[in-house]
Amino acid sequence: MSDLPPLRDIIQRYGLNASKALGQNFLLDAQLLDKIARVPGDLAGAMAYEVGPGPGGLTRALLKAGAQVVAVERDRRCIPALAELAEWKPGALQVIEGDALEQDEAVLVPGAHVVSNLPYNVGTALLVRWLTAPVWQPWWASLTVMFQKEVAERIVAAPGSGAYGRLAVLAQWRSSAKLALPVHRSAFTPPPKVMSAVVHILPQDAPAGVRVVTIEKLTAAAFGQRRKMLRQSLKGLPGALAALDVCGIDATRRAETLEIAEFVAVARAMDAAG
Ligand code: SAM
Repeated sequence: MSDLPPLRDIIQRYGLNASKALGQNFLLDAQLLDKIARVPGDLAGAMAYEVGPGPGGLTRALLKAGAQVVAVERDRRCIPALAELAEWKPGALQVIEGDALEQDEAVLVPGAHVVSNLPYNVGTALLVRWLTAPVWQPWWASLTVMFQKEVAERIVAAPGSGAYGRLAVLAQWRSSAKLALPVHRSAFTPPPKVMSAVVHILPQDAPAGVRVVTIEKLTAAAFGQRRKMLRQSLKGLPGALAALDVCGIDATRRAETLEIAEFVAVARAMDAAG
């Protein structure tokens, strides 16, 4: 792999000038890319799923780490460049031209580690989809995903902080989520306006007796009016105020003060009451 041409040459040779519409901000620094590929742990012999490989910088790092890589890229201009990369490690890289939002990952990449510098416009949609599967047998072993720093902070936020909201609860009620690596905007070509960070998420056991749809409705209502007391924000959600009572949670509190375990307890009481 040491004699791969520099990524800048690949970008030039295949005319991969960055498209804003496709959220293209490329990473070219091999050291940084290797660091990202190390976040999930040892990938030797493991399956990695990369969304949006672009010119293939992170793909190279994943292949170097010994992973079997499946990569989905929507920009057809990148496909020949990725095909060239596939030749460097025959049988280790499968490239799919298509939209990541339309893939059935449970069939395509069961048990894979997701490692991706996601396009920002689809990143949150994919994450929420991956986190809100109705039955908690996640097809993914771990998620190592780049987000805008502000979104990354919302994913890992703790109660009481301004960043704590729906995304934190969805990411943490049956997973653990950590900030793995801050990434300066200057690391990207072209640099985006904002800073970024890599988030690392591992699935945990789902709490028993709670439906994801209930957690979704509860957090949507509670954080929809985050400055209001729960007795106001949850008024329109059937069973929610009674469930607060069952759990001994003071209805004058605001959503951002509730621990994740308290959201889980309220949702469980709602589900138990039918
Ligand atoms: N992974 C490369 C890197 O780190 O340099 C490129 C990252 S760039 C931020 C995002 C990539 O996702 C682009 O290559 C873009 O074409 C691709 N992309 C955008 N929307 C996509 C989608 N819906 N499905 C698959 N790939 C997509």
